Amino acid sequence: VYNFNPGPATLPLSILEKAQAELLNYNNTGMSVMEISHRSKEFEAIVSEAENRLKSLLQLNDDYRVLFLQGGATTQFSMIPMNYLKQGTQANYIVTGSFADKACKEAAFIGETHVAASSKDANHSYIPELTSLNLSDNPAYVHITSNNTIYGTQFKEFPEINNVPLIADMSSDLLCKPFDANKFALIYAGAQKNLGPSGVTIVIIRKDLIEASNKDLPSMLRYDIMAENNSLYNTPPSFSIYMVNLMLEWVIEQGGLIAMEKHNDEKASYIYQAIDSSSGFYKGHSQPEFRSTMNVTFTIANSELESKFIAEAAGKGLIGVKGHRSVGGMRTSIYNAMPKEGCLALAEFMAEFQKNNQ
Ligand code: PLP
Repeated sequence: VYNFNPGPATLPLSILEKAQAELLNYNNTGMSVMEISHRSKEFEAIVSEAENRLKSLLQLNDDYRVLFLQGGATTQFSMIPMNYLKQGTQANYIVTGSFADKACKEAAFIGETHVAASSKDANHSYIPELTSLNLSDNPAYVHITSNNTIYGTQFKEFPEINNVPLIADMSSDLLCKPFDANKFALIYAGAQKNLGPSGVTIVIIRKDLIEASNKDLPSMLRYDIMAENNSLYNTPPSFSIYMVNLMLEWVIEQGGLIAMEKHNDEKASYIYQAIDSSSGFYKGHSQPEFRSTMNVTFTIANSELESKFIAEAAGKGLIGVKGHRSVGGMRTSIYNAMPKEGCLALAEFMAEFQKNNQ
């Protein structure tokens, strides 16, 4: 089947096969990678290899660390303000979808928040103008959500902000294309879309933010403690980190982020073309210039046909195409691991379904 679910999402077959082959005896230890100690040299090697691979893929300079944490991207919604939202400052959010809104609401438990721009007026079908952000008087940081998983919109460029840390939730598009990661103070992503299985959250953090983090917090919420201990302060989600490391190796083998961008642009174009050439039978949710290459959202003009579409798609092995209730219709998630053949099969099915139902 082709799995279009938004996350946990499809993984490359070659990685699953590699994990299967290594499952009972990792690197001649006589044990599964799930059984070896997180303090063993074998596991420490996995963590440092994963950190180095991610740094090289993103061309991060030595000012950055990569952490492998738990609690999902959702824990970062509160951990970030706990660490950086001080009295007299405001956490600034660009609210472009449900997760951005959630991140902003979590920060409001900790301190003062401010919405610097929002696309709520058009059901988050666009990314607001970034050159005219309405920042607060004393911003602690500016937070964006680079890809809006539910609405299917994606930032095509990033705000240019001087002297204020720029923070991004890249849960649903990290590693889908090259970008200047050195512009960001902190980037985080739950792994279960583009980076591996669920259970681990990647945090890319600039060293000055590690230093500036709040030291009056419980240990598990402190970036400095996580960094000092190379993500091994407590027992980490070791199998998930191992899988992320395999996934990073796969991205490198595919040709890195330039190759990923080409692959993802081509895949997304098949589905967007099926929408655009349907003479209004299908309607895309995102305004064309902000269309995500990771989550393609669309409805059918005759909404009564949508449940039939979902059922018939599943019958053809195209799984998980139902949209989120905030947009309705369909959402097809086509992260890095979705092969081109899956998108072609979906586009062909869309054309055939239209022919049979209009
Ligand atoms: N942020 C974005 C953009 C997401 O798409 C998701 C999950 O779908 C989350 C945050 C929440 O991630 P987690 O389930 O890892 O907490």
